[in-house]
Order: sequence, then C-alpha cells, then structure tokens
Amino acid sequence: MKIVSWNINGIRATRNGVKEMLDSLDGDIICLQETKVTRDLLDEPTAVVEGYNSYFSFSRGRSGYSGVATFCRDNATPLAAEEGLSGLLTNHTGAVCCYGDTEEFSEEELQGLDNEGRAVITRHKIITREEQEETLTVINVYCPRADPEKPERKTYKLRFYHLLQARAEAILRSGGHVIILGDVNTSHRIIDTCDPKDPEFFEDNPGRKWLNQFLVHRNGDATGSGSAGKEEESPLAAAEEQTGGLFLDSFRFFHPTQQNAFTCWCTNTGARLTNYGSRIDYIFGDRALVENEFEDSVLMPEVEGSDHCPVKANLRCRLVAAPKCPALCTKYLPEFAGKQQKLSQFLVKIDRMTSNHLVAEEKLQSSQNTTEALENRSPAGDMGQAKVQRKQWRTDTSKKGAKRQKTDLPSGQASLLGFFKPANAKDQAAKATVNKNSPKIEQCQDTKSKVPNGNCAVTLEEPAAGGTPEFQAKPQADFWKTLLKGPAPPPVCKGHSEPCVLRTVKKEGPNCGKQFYVCARPEGFSSNPDARCNFFLWVSKKVSSSR
Ligand code: ZN
Repeated sequence: MKIVSWNINGIRATRNGVKEMLDSLDGDIICLQETKVTRDLLDEPTAVVEGYNSYFSFSRGRSGYSGVATFCRDNATPLAAEEGLSGLLTNHTGAVCCYGDTEEFSEEELQGLDNEGRAVITRHKIITREEQEETLTVINVYCPRADPEKPERKTYKLRFYHLLQARAEAILRSGGHVIILGDVNTSHRIIDTCDPKDPEFFEDNPGRKWLNQFLVHRNGDATGSGSAGKEEESPLAAAEEQTGGLFLDSFRFFHPTQQNAFTCWCTNTGARLTNYGSRIDYIFGDRALVENEFEDSVLMPEVEGSDHCPVKANLRCRLVAAPKCPALCTKYLPEFAGKQQKLSQFLVKIDRMTSNHLVAEEKLQSSQNTTEALENRSPAGDMGQAKVQRKQWRTDTSKKGAKRQKTDLPSGQASLLGFFKPANAKDQAAKATVNKNSPKIEQCQDTKSKVPNGNCAVTLEEPAAGGTPEFQAKPQADFWKTLLKGPAPPPVCKGHSEPCVLRTVKKEGPNCGKQFYVCARPEGFSSNPDARCNFFLWVSKKVSSSR
C-alpha cells in the first residue's frame, strides 16, 4: 500500500481539479492538511471524488482556515473514521474509539484543541507480509504553528502535541498498528532545517523536546545520523534504544544522513528555488510497522502547488476495503446525498445569507460573471442552476481567503524564477547607475541586526515605478519624471548588479513600516552564488509603490 501526506495550502486552489491531483499523488490513502475548507465552503467537486471516499475535519471558527482531509481509494475504504483527537466531535457509529487518558485536559481545553479542524483518524484492515490480518489506524494531523508574537499559541501547540500523543499511544496499546502523518510544524534535528537559528539552544525548543520523547530514541540520533539498523550496537546503546517514544520517523529510518531533505520553504523569499527550507512534514509509524512493513519513505519536492511538498511511504502490507464507508464519509453529508435534498439545502443557505449577512440580491447577481470565471473549473451538469447559486454564496463568504498572496501567484518554478529575475535586468541596472536623480538613500548602519530574520515577516512589493516597462520605453516619461520628482529606479545589488526589490518591514517593533531594498534573488545558502546576496539599504523616504 502507498500512503501520502501533503500540506496542500488550499485544496480549492488545485489547478486541474481534485481528482487529477489525487491521482497524480498515486496513494491508496492520501492525507491533506491546510485544506482551507470549512463546512460552509465545501463543494461537491472537492467532497465527492470518483474512485475515492473522503473524510474531512473543519475549523469551527474562522471560515476558510486550517482543515484536514483524508482521501481513501475505494480499495482502502476504512472500517472507521473520526474527526478530531478528543472524541468530543464524534456522535456517530463507526468511530475509531480508544481515547486514552485525557485526565490532564479539561473538557473546555479538549474542545478548543479540536476546534480548528486539525485531525482526522481512519482505521483500515490490512494483511501484513506474514499474511496476518491486522488493523492500521492513520492519524492525519495539521499541528498548530507557534506564532512567536502570540505566546498563547505556543501553549496551544504543545497541548495539541500532548493530546496527539495520548491518543496515538492509546490506539497503539489497544492493538494494531498506527501511523501519524502530516504537517507537524517542528523540524526535528539540525539536519532537518537550513537555518537552525541558534544551534546552542536548538534542543531547547519545546516542540523538539516533545518530538524527542515521542519518537524512538535511536543510537546516534542526537547528531542527526541515526542508524537504520545496519551498524553494530553496543549493549548499552541497545538498552538506550528502549527509551524514548513508541514511533519512528520513517524518512530518517531509511535516509538517516540525507542532507537538504526539506518539505517546506518560505514562499515570500523564493527559497524553494535554492532549496533553503525545513523538514516539518512527516510519516511516523509504530516501530514494528516501520521495521517490518515499510519499504521506503520519501519526499516529493518535485510536486508543486503549495509551499510544502508531499511525503510518501510504500508499505508491503495490503489493504482490505471495508464493505461500506463509515458515517463520517463526506458523501453522506446532506447536501451531497441526493439531488432533491441538495437543491433545498442551497435555498436554505441563500436565504440565511441574505437575511443574516444583508447581502443584497443585486450584488449576488452582478457578481455572477466574476464568480463563474473564478470558480467554474468543471462544467456544471444538470445541477447548473443550483451550482451557480451556491457559488455566488461561496464567493461572498470567501473573499478574505482570496486576498492571500500565495494563491494569487502562479506556483510553478519557472514562473517563480521569472518573478525573481527580471528579464531586462541589465537594462534596468544600466539605467539605475546612469540616473543621477535617485532619492537620497542612507546606508544602513547595522545591517545584520536590522534585517528582519524570519523573512516571512516581510512582504514583497512592486518594484519602484522607475523599473516598469512603460517608463523604460519612453524617454519622455523619464523627462517628466525628473521634472515631477517621481520615483527613481531601484538601486542595484553589489553581488549581481541587478535591480533590487523594495520591501517593507511587517514585523512589530521600531522598524515596522520602514522600507528597504534587498537583492531580488531568492534566499539561499550564502555559499550559493545564484542565491540572494547580502545587499541591503534602508529607504530614507517612503517610496510609493503606486504611481
Ligand atoms: Zn544580488
């Protein structure tokens, strides 16, 4: 059997439709995270896909936030399926059960941890390579990210880890095998990140400490070079190996020393082009399963469409499909269960929208064309009318999600490269050096401490207007620009003599809102001449990005 995990960063942004995406991943069980689908946004092409049965968990809070989904090929139909880790979201038959000891959590806390649509659990019947019939429980998780600005989210993340561990271990102890996979949002070893910040304190990160005790402690692991069972181990090391947790990181089991093996890259800095990333997406399995049934565990960095890449494991065991999908299956949701019911469901929703959210009917009608263009990827069938109505409703509720830069940008490598390397770089560079009317720019005093370090805190802006083709093509425009003191071309970087990009500090603090120029190339290791050079200039006077 093949199992895949991918933080897809928005399932509805999938270019060629969900089925094509799933087929291309070639997995029997495909676990997606950050679907950005909440119940109000779930549409039929996403929920009901030919050849698969699917199980979603939705955030109960913000619309279009978080969310995970497990798609099972029909040959992998699970015996049971459940939303969340605590069991509180389950009120149907066909749940996975085995909730473990959650004494340390209040019911309120459990509800909070399951409120963001971060876990789906499915249980499958497998035949092991020794022809034993056993169960395999798959826990698909999107672990919270700790926002350094919000201490309460750090706590939330750690409590989520503890609940995940309590549940996973309870299921394992009840018998059968367990796989935990998804976006764990912590890189485990120094080898798993391009930028270990302060290596001295690397192991002090609480998420990393949690991983250390959750995973089997293998000999030599501390240096990031765990053995895959080939080296001889001393009795002491063997005893030590008994400590730690119950699960193995399957990728490191097969590739203990592989470097530059990353699954996530910062989009704003184009770091994927130089493979400057981290490995935070994992397939963990209980030790016996990984050692006896796994054939390999790999990363799929060639797959684009998200700021993460998929990870995949091949197992020797075979899946046995359950005769009937468990109750959580999305095909049983009332709006997808039958056409008549579906139509009435739409009408109820539209009605509620207009009364509760005061969406004027005229507005709905006028947005129809845009909506169609944006959302109509597959021709509406006999449900055309109802679909149009539903789309109108969805567009109005999903505008917040639509402004995300990531989803607006083309995601292909080629197009990203084009974005970071202006085709007419030389012309612009020449121009920039000739132009004597550039605004006065102060050299930064202490570049290192002032360059925002977590580069995601910075947004990319349009190049200064002087660099736009209109201005280059018309000398007259240059004349007027000089006369009217319009914006000048950006400076060129020292490393490549290419025009810089203008950025704004978004991070809270004394520099928030200040602008600066940096090399336009993608971020990368300092040894890579094709990556961003260290050129940096504060802008003394605000440069308007719109003319
Ligand atoms: Zn440069």
